[in-house]
Amino acid sequence: MSDCIFCRIIHKQLPAQIVHEDDFSVAFEDIHPKAPVHVLVIPRVHIVSLDTMREGDKQVLGHLLLVAQKLARERGIAETGYRTVINTGPQAGQSVFHLHLHLLGGRSLGWPPG
Ligand code: 5GP
Ligand code: ZN
Repeated sequence: MSDCIFCRIIHKQLPAQIVHEDDFSVAFEDIHPKAPVHVLVIPRVHIVSLDTMREGDKQVLGHLLLVAQKLARERGIAETGYRTVINTGPQAGQSVFHLHLHLLGGRSLGWPPG
């Protein structure tokens, strides 16, 4: 989708610090990091949110989680711990409507989230 900022990052029409790419996903540094490690892992296909995912998309989600696991190991936060978050809809604060997994770590993360 040409008006989607994350699709534009995937197609290199918008700059981003990309840290991982494969056939199904792209991962890049969040522009406003909320933790020492804050990476967004997104599917190459434009899926609006978790709420619009379909049966045929389910492998994508597992893939995003395994990419997050790999990146967490690479960043050295697998041992100390990390959080993966998918914000869905207005009350959860979703602001970009292309499904994305936040990978957060490198500091203590409070619970419950605000
Ligand atoms: P959400 O609030 O939808 O769960 O998360 C969207 C995330 O995307 C936010 O953490 C925000 O900082 C990040 N973001 C928004 N626009 C851009 C951008 O143009 N580039 C990058 N790298 N991150 C962005
Ligand atoms: Zn998109």
